[in-house]
Amino acid sequence: MTKNSNTIPPDVSRLPHSPARPPLAGLRVLVSGASVAGPAVAFWLDRYGAEVTVVEKAPELRPGGFAVDFRGAVHAEVLRAMDIADDVAARQTHMGAQSVVDAADRVLVELPASMLSGDVEIHRGDLAEIMYERTRSGVRYVFGDSIASLRQDDDGVDVSFERAAPQRYDLVVGADGLHSHTRALVFGPEECHVRFGGYYFAAFGLPNHLGLDRTARMYTEPGRTVLLSHYGGDPARALASLVFASDPLSHDRRDVAAHKRLLRERFAGGGWHTAYVLDALDDADDLYFDALARSEVDGLARGRVVLLGDAGYGATMGGMGTGCALVGAYVLAGELAAARGAHRAAFAAYEAEMTAFARGCQKTAANVGPFFAPATQAAIRRRDRTYRVLGARVMTRVFRRITLHAAQNIRLKDYPRCYGARRDTTRE
Ligand SMILES: Cc1cc2nc3c(=O)[nH]c(=O)nc-3n(C[C@H](O)[C@H](O)[C@H](O)COP(=O)(O)OP(=O)(O)OC[C@H]3O[C@@H](n4cnc5c(N)ncnc54)[C@H](O)[C@@H]3O)c2cc1C
Repeated sequence: MTKNSNTIPPDVSRLPHSPARPPLAGLRVLVSGASVAGPAVAFWLDRYGAEVTVVEKAPELRPGGFAVDFRGAVHAEVLRAMDIADDVAARQTHMGAQSVVDAADRVLVELPASMLSGDVEIHRGDLAEIMYERTRSGVRYVFGDSIASLRQDDDGVDVSFERAAPQRYDLVVGADGLHSHTRALVFGPEECHVRFGGYYFAAFGLPNHLGLDRTARMYTEPGRTVLLSHYGGDPARALASLVFASDPLSHDRRDVAAHKRLLRERFAGGGWHTAYVLDALDDADDLYFDALARSEVDGLARGRVVLLGDAGYGATMGGMGTGCALVGAYVLAGELAAARGAHRAAFAAYEAEMTAFARGCQKTAANVGPFFAPATQAAIRRRDRTYRVLGARVMTRVFRRITLHAAQNIRLKDYPRCYGARRDTTRE
């Protein structure tokens, strides 16, 4: 791994370097979730010699999704270490400046690309696919299944599945997102671990009737905003994103028809292109709907079960969760390798490395809801005036300083070099 100001020399005193014998040889690890965090930790665990199975509830790799981004040297370093930086760059969205508009579509403020799209932005589904392709030769993926129960003892974890036969593993990694099933089974109910942020978010694909090309337009009314953006490779498609302020709703997360009803209610009578967006909602078969929320878990491990990514420290929009998930995967697998699979020491070290970093990233998400959907017309005008008067570029520099501080607030150890990661043969 290349050195930068955020990396430190390997702690060679902890264990001898032994490239001939991978440090996690023989360790059987089950990972729940095949989005970003799951394949990322599978990548490293496989490199260190573990036998890795990833179980994913969806019948296949979930495509699409909103855009996620990477910022600063630490994210870049991890992408390089995984040797996927070029693949990510090749599939980045190339999103340009984005405009805040009024009801008549007049531009009020221009927001430079780096503010909302980081250094490199990619659709979550494209990123998941890149990592899946890089890992599938060494990792066993099981789609369309889920952990049903977990029972751990001193020597391992007995896992039963919804469909497959029961298995015993040495360790289980819960990388199954903000609403983690693994967390619910082992750490307790979701209500104890997910804090609602006061807003809901929805996104879906629709025809690109504005002809947006690598740009986005955002229209805000008190407590609600509609954003239309260019959607990746297909010029005919756009992505509608809707944010609205709300008290917590008691709704079934799988009931898509109910989500559509709710969105129609919440955005009824909206100006600009809101009526077009609500019409298009009828045909949407890819609606994403969730609260802006964050995971708050007291301790990332319980015995042999450990949480990674959104399951442990997600913050939905604005919390740099993708970068956090990749950094977390690097650190978790690296600490396991450093401890030669001694999970107690490794999980304690993982938590010590990650906690302040992840909390800092979560904090950056706190202002995202109020930024997108200020509560009153006066607050919307204040937001727009601030950006206009100070200049979007000045605001962007301030914003960038804050997010970069959080995104780079960790010193990556050089685990792979120290412990002789297996050579990648998938590209040779
Ligand atoms: C609206 C929105 C915007 C965002 N924007 C950004 C951004 O701009 N930048 C950024 O860095 N991050 C962003 N994020 C966060 C980012 O999407 C996540 O942090 C990132 O995807 C890492 O997630 P993960 O792999 O931990 O979980 P997820 O991506 O949620 O994946 C969890 C996986 O687990 C699977 N799963 C669920 N239950 C089970 C089960 N019982 N058994 C097996 N598998 C299961 C799911 O199907 C899914 O594949 C955003 C998030 C949201 C919601």
